Amino acid sequence: MRLGQEERVFCGFCKLLKLRELNERRLAGEFGQNMLMIGPPGSGKTMLAKRIPSILPPMTFDEALETTAIHSVCGLLRGDKQFVAQRPFRSPHHTISAAGLVGGGSNPRPGEVSLAHNGVLFLDELPEFQRNVLEVLRQPLEEDEVIISRAARSVPFPAKFMLAAAMNPCPCGYWNSVAKECVCTPAQIQRYLSKISGPLLDRIDLHIDVPEVKYKELIRDPDGEASPVIAQRVRRAREIQLERFRHTALYCNAHMGSSEIHRHCVLNEATRKLLETAIQKLNFSARAYDRILKVARTIADLAHSEQIGTEHVAEAIQYRSLDRNFWEGT
Ligand SMILES: [Zn+2]
Repeated sequence: MRLGQEERVFCGFCKLLKLRELNERRLAGEFGQNMLMIGPPGSGKTMLAKRIPSILPPMTFDEALETTAIHSVCGLLRGDKQFVAQRPFRSPHHTISAAGLVGGGSNPRPGEVSLAHNGVLFLDELPEFQRNVLEVLRQPLEEDEVIISRAARSVPFPAKFMLAAAMNPCPCGYWNSVAKECVCTPAQIQRYLSKISGPLLDRIDLHIDVPEVKYKELIRDPDGEASPVIAQRVRRAREIQLERFRHTALYCNAHMGSSEIHRHCVLNEATRKLLETAIQKLNFSARAYDRILKVARTIADLAHSEQIGTEHVAEAIQYRSLDRNFWEGT
């Protein structure tokens, strides 16, 4: 498939599938599934990210203990805040070093990924981070912990967090905007997007387009669901997942390995065909295939549907809009 510049940057496929309206359900439903929001300045990416902790299930006592221990090591507990009961929300600036992000030092200290343990790590302006800094995220994203190696010893720190990242669609921020004209050349846009490596993108489950107009609609929408209602639906979806994994060490769809995916993400003939066509047409990687199935499982859970339907897979596919294989063209 030959793609024009426009489709390379934004997902042409989602235009075909018609994006369902953006709301917090997007963020809520996929707990544990990392996301990248793409939109112009002022489209509300930061506001949406900050609301994630309020729509996640409350921390369990054990989670709170773990998180408190890390914050204690870093000397962040003081005054009346001796116990971390709320899921943490960490948003380090893009000038942070690799050691600041994952931990380090001669006497190893936890970094931001560990301070975000059981909560949310928000990286705004993702392409502005140093590439070597983004690369060190790969280990915690795969293994839920970081190992800081020093000559004398290796120290593991827990780092199980949800990554929420945000970026503009181009260096000036206004590519495809109705508010302002983009002044970037295609080469500049390409260079900007390529600052995020394919392997890192592969580890982000959801690529979400956040256009400015939709955000305004969201603010105005009188029928917009309140956070408690969304939180309740998410809790229900989480209960379905706890039940599904009750005899295993897992507790949510995001952590399924290939054998669980095989067991819990069974597709009927028509749905399998749709996915195979998309994989082939959009040139997705094998890793993306599994991620689409996991996200589709969660979307079906939110709809209280035992069977993963075509609509669930179709919705999951549109969240792979930034896949490198796709926008680098054919
Ligand atoms: Zn631009």
